[in-house]
Amino acid sequence: MGDNIHILKQRLREVRDRIRAAEKAAGRSPGEVALLAVSKAQPADAVLAVSGLGQRLFGESYLQEGLEKIQAAGDRDIEWHFIGPIQSNKTRGIAERFQWVQSVDRAKILRRLHEQRPAELPPLNVCLQVNISGEAQKSGAPPERIPELAEAAAGCDRLRLRGVMTIPAPGDGEAGMRAAFARTRELYLSLREAGHGLDTLSMGMSGDLEQAVAEGATMVRVGTAVFGPREG
Ligand SMILES: *Cc1c(COP(=O)(O)O)cnc(C)c1O
Repeated sequence: MGDNIHILKQRLREVRDRIRAAEKAAGRSPGEVALLAVSKAQPADAVLAVSGLGQRLFGESYLQEGLEKIQAAGDRDIEWHFIGPIQSNKTRGIAERFQWVQSVDRAKILRRLHEQRPAELPPLNVCLQVNISGEAQKSGAPPERIPELAEAAAGCDRLRLRGVMTIPAPGDGEAGMRAAFARTRELYLSLREAGHGLDTLSMGMSGDLEQAVAEGATMVRVGTAVFGPREG
């Protein structure tokens, strides 16, 4: 790590400053928006270093890679979020080793996570991923399917439904991005009105966290702005 720790420290501070400034600009309280450090394609050393700087929430997109880092982190105080596409044969590892999964987009996956969550662990925290821009071949359920998925999740006592996650289409420009974030917030609020006790609106990444915070994000998922370019 050596010099690297100074760079990580500075990047982490910059990201925290950006979040703080965005909260302020939106008239929100400091600390309302949580930072998920997305460590996919980053070495375990970098996770340990950033954890040592006081960062607690980490996100991984690939199961095997995530499990290796969870192992490497041992008993450090880290909350692990799975944020990648989920194949059926990957649900067990997620249910057994992660505290959160943010990328659930179908009922079959909900059911498997519920069945596979070990009874001795607290319920697995779940966000439903919505394909808010209607992109073809993209993960996430269409918005109109989200209410029934939320009902299904609410019926699973090994799961705790926390909110909604989205990644808007990159080509939409700033205005399109803001509109997509705003639609996601509407969906989130409509689920709350329907009686779901949600507290997490997960949207915004390295390039667009300001817009997401302006539109009500409670968690931003930031990779490259914290860790630098990904390997490979
Ligand atoms: C990779 C990834 C991120 C982080 O992207 P950056 O642009 O590196 O900040 C956030 N969310 C998801 C779901 C990702 O896969």
